[in-house]
Amino acid sequence: MKKEKICPVCLKVFVPTGHNQKICSKECAEIRHREWAKMNRRASKYRSKDLDNVLKEIAEYNERTNQHISYGQYMGLIYSKAGVEK
Ligand SMILES: [Zn+2]
Repeated sequence: MKKEKICPVCLKVFVPTGHNQKICSKECAEIRHREWAKMNRRASKYRSKDLDNVLKEIAEYNERTNQHISYGQYMGLIYSKAGVEK
C-alpha cells in the first residue's frame, strides 16, 4: 500500500509515484523552486562568503556582544536581517 503525503506547496494530499517525491505536481515543484530562488537571492550576499570568514565573524560577534551563539543561530540572525532588507 502506498503512503499518502501532503504537498507542502498546495497542502493537498497526494500519493507519491516515486519514493522520493515530496511535491504533488510539476506545477507545485516549480512554485517551490521559485520560492527557493527568491530566498537564495536574498541571502546570496552572505552565502558567497567562505565558511572560515563566517566563523570568524561569529567569533567577533560573540566577543562584541558577549554572547555564545552557534553557526546556525548566526545564520538565522542573518537570514532574518536579509528578509527585512529591501
Ligand atoms: Zn501541490
